[in-house]
Amino acid sequence: MSQPGAPVLPARYQVMERQEETRDTVTLWLRPVDEPIPENLPGQFTMMYAPGIGEVPISISGTGPDSGLVQTVRAVGAVTRALCSCTPGKMIGVRGPYGTDWDVASAAGDDLLIVAGGIGLAPLRGALLAALEHRERYHRVVVLAGARSPEELVFARELGGWRGDGAEVTVTVDQAAAGWTGDVGVVTQLIGRADIDSARTTALICGPEVMMRLTARELRALGVPAARIRVSVERNMRCGVAECGHCQLGRLLLCRDGPVISYEAAMPLLAIREL
Ligand SMILES: Cc1cc2nc3c(=O)[nH]c(=O)nc-3n(C[C@H](O)[C@H](O)[C@H](O)COP(=O)(O)OP(=O)(O)OC[C@H]3O[C@@H](n4cnc5c(N)ncnc54)[C@H](O)[C@@H]3O)c2cc1C
Repeated sequence: MSQPGAPVLPARYQVMERQEETRDTVTLWLRPVDEPIPENLPGQFTMMYAPGIGEVPISISGTGPDSGLVQTVRAVGAVTRALCSCTPGKMIGVRGPYGTDWDVASAAGDDLLIVAGGIGLAPLRGALLAALEHRERYHRVVVLAGARSPEELVFARELGGWRGDGAEVTVTVDQAAAGWTGDVGVVTQLIGRADIDSARTTALICGPEVMMRLTARELRALGVPAARIRVSVERNMRCGVAECGHCQLGRLLLCRDGPVISYEAAMPLLAIREL
């Protein structure tokens, strides 16, 4: 069964602004030209169409004024390269929003822990901004972000603003560069120091699968229930509406049943290599 109400045709969006995050990653601010796609929830994704090249799933990193979208793309192949090279004024296609969301509101009254590896911060940015918009609803909002090097860190210019809005943000890099005063090491090393209260923590994790597995394992060892740990699982996707089967993982079609799933559901699936 496809996603009820999910649009299957792309709407035209125009690039309003292009921000280079790293040497291969770009954030695009998009404005609808015609009817915008329906409202999205943090964690959902769209299918972005680079005219004449192709279409790829990209998470929504945020929303802008007038039903605008913010999407952060890393150039890894033909379509993402074409999207990353879009300059202001360029028209692209967008359909969606598709998939499950982080359900940030369910952490109200408790601590929200966001753990990101690399470009995994892009799907989590919207969740963080949603929590900071209603900061009073949450106890602690903690962000632990890892990047390969300081130059590979996405949204670096936003960290100060997030801290100012009440988030505890810690960044670590695998390899430091001259002038780096932050942490060095993998992101899982930060968890022990974050003083996590397992009884009141909801954790949202996005990054490479090995990083999500190790982070979740660390949180489980601290006593955070598996049902309160959510991960974003990505697989190759084509249709986005649960028709083609490309994104099947076990019994799930990740475009519909994911990308955000509880660690409880993900655990048996991520344990099997190449599934
Ligand atoms: C739900 C979802 C959300 C995503 N959100 C983002 C995002 O916010 N920003 C972003 O930059 N990318 C995101 N991606 C990944 C993005 O869709 C792929 O990088 C893109 O499809 C590659 O297409 P291409 O034509 O540029 O490269 P291709 O030539 O198709 O692929 C280049 C390389 O990337 C690998 N690849 C392709 N798709 C995936 C995938 N889904 N996961 C892992 N490796 C892949 C290929 O195996 C190949 O090695 C997301 C993927 C999914 C499923």
